Amino acid sequence: MPDTLQIVNPANETVIASVALATVDHADEAIARAKEAGPAWRMVAPADRARLLRRFAEAVAANAEELAQLETANMGMPIGASRWCATGVADVLHYFAGAIDKHTGSTIPVAGGIDMTFHEPLGVVGLITPWNFPMYMASWKLGPALATGNTVVIKPAEITPLTTMRLGELALDAGIPEGVLSVLVGTGAEVGWRFVTHPDVRKVAFTGSTAVGKRIMSGCADQVKRVTLELGGKSANIVFADADVDAAAAGAPGAVFDNTGQDCCARSRVLVQRSVFDRFVEGFEAAAAQLVVGDPTDPATAIGPLVTAAHLAKVRSYTDGVRATWTGEAPSGSGFWHPCMLLTPDDPSSALWTDEVFGPVATMIPFDTEEEAVAIANDSVYGLSGSIWSRDIGRALRVARAVEGGALSVNSNSSVRYATPFGGFKQSGLGREHSMHVLDHYTELKNVFISMT
Ligand code: NAP
Ligand code: MG
Repeated sequence: MPDTLQIVNPANETVIASVALATVDHADEAIARAKEAGPAWRMVAPADRARLLRRFAEAVAANAEELAQLETANMGMPIGASRWCATGVADVLHYFAGAIDKHTGSTIPVAGGIDMTFHEPLGVVGLITPWNFPMYMASWKLGPALATGNTVVIKPAEITPLTTMRLGELALDAGIPEGVLSVLVGTGAEVGWRFVTHPDVRKVAFTGSTAVGKRIMSGCADQVKRVTLELGGKSANIVFADADVDAAAAGAPGAVFDNTGQDCCARSRVLVQRSVFDRFVEGFEAAAAQLVVGDPTDPATAIGPLVTAAHLAKVRSYTDGVRATWTGEAPSGSGFWHPCMLLTPDDPSSALWTDEVFGPVATMIPFDTEEEAVAIANDSVYGLSGSIWSRDIGRALRVARAVEGGALSVNSNSSVRYATPFGGFKQSGLGREHSMHVLDHYTELKNVFISMT
């Protein structure tokens, strides 16, 4: 009998499902099925593969409300955000359905013949996803992996498997053949690691913590296995005095606290030019106080619980005993609640300033010059996201070019659009998701020379 895992609603600690945990043997079987399904899947005509992905997208859209409710119950994500993610999954699948016949090779002028390139699928690809945006993260990998003709095994974080399991069913209903996509709910140490060690898995695409990402990368080295990594962040929100300071302050709490801070793009280091610092703090606190905290099934709710008791304990280990400049409300009683907090640490080398807390905790410090702001922003092992607020276009562009981050925005806190590349500098990752660029990460480039003699 396989072990079972009880799935808990983090808002009220009730058990909402019980899931059989996959073992290494189950992973091996699914990988074998994926390998067997590979040759037929890669030969499906592009228009037909696109049609299947679109039908998958349409099935997601038709079941969006169910998926959103499942995500909210399993992960504690406020229902408004869950609905946005469910729509996002369908959009991502549509985008990659449309990309299939646009990822073209080239012909290259050479002596004595014709030379051409092909993008070949890799084969079986192992996808490993985190718990913070379960179905959305799954779609970011499923879309390009399937579009390019690979077959996949996907392992969601075992604590939040329900929406990914449902996506697996919807893919089958949509006509994606058996074996092309298998969902395995198991632990990272067993099932996830098996993707790393199994010789028939040609690539691992991972989203999660930097610590686990490093282990996966070194494990993949053994077989020179392809690997892409979307890892942690500690992104800077840089606000210059010449910005629309009120707009920057109004948006800054959501840019950290959304998804209860469990967001790799969270702009958790807020850098504010000294002359507007006090005004900004006032605006930040006023906007933060407006965020409705509580029952994630209520559409008015902006902030829900943290995902597990263990994660709550981790966040508390950073905030216990720390003097906050501002602390929000949090429900008492059952559920894994942590209040939103604004901290203005005296010591910028403290763990609160350097570590990805992954909770609703903003740290804020003043700066004086543009150079200083860039230096502080780049003083991190991470380089994922970030914002620059300024009305001076020259300054905004200089800073955007100087900040080491893969997904930046100016006068905005938005990071993610399926048609634009997303990923990290430095220890925030390797490779990119989204856009046409991601397709290169799921294919090998083959060159063929044809002699004319
Ligand atoms: P995690 O602990 O690293 O886990 C991520 C996934 O890896 C889970 O499915 C986990 O499985 C699995 N895993 C754990 N150990 C493994 C191993 N030895 N071999 C193979 N797989 C293993 O991360 P998390 O706590 O779920 O997610 C939070 C992190 O993800 C944060 O650091 C966040 O910044 C990052 N994140 C990054 C992005 C991005 O796009 N850059 C997006 C979202 C999240 P189990 O947990 O089931 O054991
Ligand atoms: Mg984990």
